[in-house]
Amino acid sequence: MSVLDAIGETPLIRLTRVTAGIAAAVHLKAEFLNPGGSVKDRAALSMVNAAEASGELKPGGVIVEGTSGNTGIGLAIVGAQRGYRTIVVVPDKSSAEKVATLRAYGAEVVVTTGGVTRDDPRHVSQVAARLAEETPDAWLAGQYDNPANPGAHLATTGPEIWRQTGGRVTHFVAGVGTGGTISGAGAYLHETGPVTIVGADPQSSAYGGGDGSPYYVESIGHYVHPDTVEDVWPQSYHPAVVDRLERVTDRESIEMTRRLAREEGILVGASTGTAVVAALRVARELGPDALVVVLAPDSGRAYLSKYFDDGWLRRAGFPAPPAPGPLVGDGP
Ligand code: PMP
Repeated sequence: MSVLDAIGETPLIRLTRVTAGIAAAVHLKAEFLNPGGSVKDRAALSMVNAAEASGELKPGGVIVEGTSGNTGIGLAIVGAQRGYRTIVVVPDKSSAEKVATLRAYGAEVVVTTGGVTRDDPRHVSQVAARLAEETPDAWLAGQYDNPANPGAHLATTGPEIWRQTGGRVTHFVAGVGTGGTISGAGAYLHETGPVTIVGADPQSSAYGGGDGSPYYVESIGHYVHPDTVEDVWPQSYHPAVVDRLERVTDRESIEMTRRLAREEGILVGASTGTAVVAALRVARELGPDALVVVLAPDSGRAYLSKYFDDGWLRRAGFPAPPAPGPLVGDGP
């Protein structure tokens, strides 16, 4: 088997400690166990396969993408394995670990200004589009608008969850970045059984009706610059699939991320914290027959210098956690 055959078929892990007092079962879909450490390996492989099939990506070609990191890592793995040069444009809020990981796989990394809207020439997607135009034999993956991104989850993530739960899944919870995961897996689960699809969104993200102001959790939500007139949502996000959206503060997300490591022994990124906070809110309303599956997009290894670093927490305005145990009190 090649490393690409090791993508997907991730296990479901039942949460047992942070679910105290909750009757419903809550299982984590452990996407951090993919070879590149995130759910985006699935989308990367699916998009490259589609581009090879359509002839857009030819042997010896160049893969280009604008990404907060994980899609780039997935593309870099596929590029390394299949002999493509890979160029990845990342916003400057991406963690140092993600950038170092991309470089370790041999990807060329271009760092651009984060926190600007998609219509700004400095935005990752605009820089990536320019590079793709200027580079001979380049193919722009375009995860925000590429149907092979949600397609990956329609074909793999959704069916895996259905099979692994023996069709007993009642709720599926996931964060929304490009929307690929929730749209693809959500569509499959909607069609296959009566499953409620729950989106987990940063409090100020525009997906859930927030004002679009900045937040700390990486890779999910929709940031809108105050001067933006037109607010374009990615085509990979199909809002009709989402039955319910839960808004979660940075503080809640980071607290839960730290608790998952200390209390469950599961080291994940803050977007998992966001999704688990939403999942527990939903699960609290349910009885013992309910089975909630919450998707854990990536590993906490990528954020040791951020959410798991007490100095970073203090500098960002969050109270440092008392050790051992979860964060307490009110805050941002
Ligand atoms: N969490 C993390 C850490 C991610 O990298 C991503 C992908 N951008 C997501 C959540 C959201 O997944 P999707 O793009 O499929 O909505």
